[in-house]
Amino acid sequence: MVDPFGRGINYLRVSVTDRCDFRCVYCMAEQMTFLPKKELLTLEELDRLCTVFIGLGVKKLRLTGGEPLVRRNIMALINGLGRHLRSGALDELTLTTNGSQLEKFSGELVSAGVRRVNVSVDTLDPDKFAAITRWGRFDQVMAGIEAAREAGLQVKINAVALKDQTEHEIDDMIRWCGRRGFDLTLIETMPMGDIGGEERLDQYLPLSDLRRRIEERWTLDETSYRTGGPARYATIRETGTRLGFITPMTHNFCESCNRVRLTCTGMLYMCLGQDDSADLRDVLRANPDDDAPVVTAVEEAIGRKPKGHDFLIDRDHTGPAVKRHMSVTGG
Ligand code: SAM
Ligand code: SF4
Repeated sequence: MVDPFGRGINYLRVSVTDRCDFRCVYCMAEQMTFLPKKELLTLEELDRLCTVFIGLGVKKLRLTGGEPLVRRNIMALINGLGRHLRSGALDELTLTTNGSQLEKFSGELVSAGVRRVNVSVDTLDPDKFAAITRWGRFDQVMAGIEAAREAGLQVKINAVALKDQTEHEIDDMIRWCGRRGFDLTLIETMPMGDIGGEERLDQYLPLSDLRRRIEERWTLDETSYRTGGPARYATIRETGTRLGFITPMTHNFCESCNRVRLTCTGMLYMCLGQDDSADLRDVLRANPDDDAPVVTAVEEAIGRKPKGHDFLIDRDHTGPAVKRHMSVTGG
């Protein structure tokens, strides 16, 4: 699949649920209204749609959410999708998770063919962790990460950089990741969804500032390493691990975008930061035995992939740029 700007689309991110066992302050309001279950694609429908995308050239599939591992019977989907790894149609099946369920699932994930997971941890301070995730249990996440490592999963840590809250801990985080051999990616907060209050501007920390400060204490060697995602990586000479920066706000990465996003209700979003979408659930349900109309709908949607996002956070723009939360489109 090639979009109108000549970008090859080979990466699909799938939000398998909008629900989560955490309520991170930058992601959700404390009181969230979730979708009624009947709105969700079934696991069989998710498998069918993923398989259509793989048939169209998707090589990398990432399950996300909400929290993907809290969807009931999620391992049935992951085990099923593992067949595409074994056939060679898919290069990688991976997950972004908050880590709360990794103690339970790491072994099964490896058996299904998953080799890497991204785990979101913004702070190593248990009290701050509780404040940021609202409902998260730090010890449970640490145990989950340890279980993932023991099971042989390669772990990458994602941390949202939050002004005043986590920016001063970055050295601890670099050391902690370095000792364990984990790469670390720092993410800027993006204006997505109403999170209650006018907190967005208070949270926003441009990574260009943070990088300058990191470079006062660590040696960052530029690398051309890319994971096919928007992160730009440097190797930290002192630890040998990588440090990635995802800077949607300060650096526009759209020109190399290779991905589209599917929500748990079957909406295909061609851009994380734009509202245009295609409803694949209707097409899927109207054609239970024929994938051809689904293929056409996907191709037509890719033909509308926009050039880029319009994120902006400043004093005049403190509200969300798009109404849906990150947990709907899956980050
Ligand atoms: N629950 C899983 C997790 O936390 O990793 C997967 C879904 S979560 C929406 C995916 C990623 O999006 C996480 O790394 C999270 O920190 C990030 N995220 C959520 N809301 C964000 C926002 N407004 N700006 C930037 N990153 C955000
Ligand atoms: Fe849940 Fe992930 Fe959003 Fe936190 S960032 S509330 S863990 S979906």
